[in-house]
Amino acid sequence: MITFEEARSIIYAHTRSLGVERIHVLESVGRVLAEDAVAPWDMPLWDNSAMDGYAVRATDCRTIPCCLKVTGFIPAGVRSEGLSVEPGCSVRIMTGAPLPAGCDAVVPVEETDNGSETVTLHESVEAGQHIRVRGEDVRQGQVFIRAGSIIRPPEVNMLASYGMALVAVHRRPSVAILSTGDELVELGVTPGPGEIVNSNTLSLAAAVIECGAIPRIIGIARDNRESHREKLTEGLKADVLITSAGVSAGDCDLVRDVLAELGARQLFWKIGIKPGGPTAFALHGTTPVFSLPGNPVSTMITFEEFVRPALLRMQGHSAIQRPLFKAVLREEVRKKPGKVQIVRVRLEKDNGRWYATSAGNQQTAILKTMVDAQALAVLPAETTRFAAGSEVDVHFYGNHIELE
Ligand code: AMP
Ligand code: MG
Repeated sequence: MITFEEARSIIYAHTRSLGVERIHVLESVGRVLAEDAVAPWDMPLWDNSAMDGYAVRATDCRTIPCCLKVTGFIPAGVRSEGLSVEPGCSVRIMTGAPLPAGCDAVVPVEETDNGSETVTLHESVEAGQHIRVRGEDVRQGQVFIRAGSIIRPPEVNMLASYGMALVAVHRRPSVAILSTGDELVELGVTPGPGEIVNSNTLSLAAAVIECGAIPRIIGIARDNRESHREKLTEGLKADVLITSAGVSAGDCDLVRDVLAELGARQLFWKIGIKPGGPTAFALHGTTPVFSLPGNPVSTMITFEEFVRPALLRMQGHSAIQRPLFKAVLREEVRKKPGKVQIVRVRLEKDNGRWYATSAGNQQTAILKTMVDAQALAVLPAETTRFAAGSEVDVHFYGNHIELE
């Protein structure tokens, strides 16, 4: 048995980016940029007006009110070459329009009488006011988004501003999902006596989608070698393989055995964690293979703690683990020594502090407590008693949790 932390570092040491693909900028939201984005030109590319108003020479406007002749008009989208602001004159200009030669300030229309032949200014004018200077946002050659950044709408905007229709991002892994067991029937089939619906395939696929990867549902391997051989071979064609069940020490637990037969190299089996102890990790070539226990709670928790960070890492993310924060226990918790224990909790915030209450029955066969859990408390292996009022590490469980 290896520790929770050892298991993570072995997994991280064997999961890396699958390389780069170029996709449309709109498709890139949520993905991780694989190459620095370098500015092909100054942004903005020319000095321009920040306001609707009048381009003026500040020295002409020392005494207020001041009256200037209006000698031209520059709407947005028009070139300003050939136009200049002569002494004692002004040019009417719209927001974003290129500045004419000679001027050094823009006076907003609200600070004038809005005149068309002549204009009267009511407020004092400072050189440089309301002018956007060429290159003040980004200089040509500057890195404006670093490789490794997650693409959000602002990144999409900057990339689009530079006309970058294709964006280099880390590939999304395809993740094969294989359930094993003679008791399983597929979704849509009414389970008979002794049968259960293969719900793990669905929750694993949902979790894979939630972290940005692409699920490939392989179906069910029955509890015999032939079926395992066929389905595992199929699953190994994906970038990552996840199996559920058949990984404990029971008579029908064939997953590790048949994986070995197919050439996978097991890196560990059994982690000091509860639930989820029998988890195994192997490599087939460079393909990571996660063999998770079949109990649905164990499957989901081991995915959350071990597979999710690996899939994020493969997609170029650097923050791959959910951030831990402290919560105060409402009730005492006791556990056996030797294993990290993951406890399903609900959270409340009171006076700036988080408080954690058990989400209910913590047995591994109880699914509803997973539904009710907003967060998971991560209790260290060696401690056996956590008093009410003491602080423990917790992290959110799920991507869309909102708490007051
Ligand atoms: P096993 O690891 O095969 O001993 O399975 C452990 C427990 O998980 C048993 O109660 C199984 O019925 C249950 N289980 C296994 N596979 C699935 C699955 N695909 N969906 C839901 N429950 C499952
Ligand atoms: Mg089984």
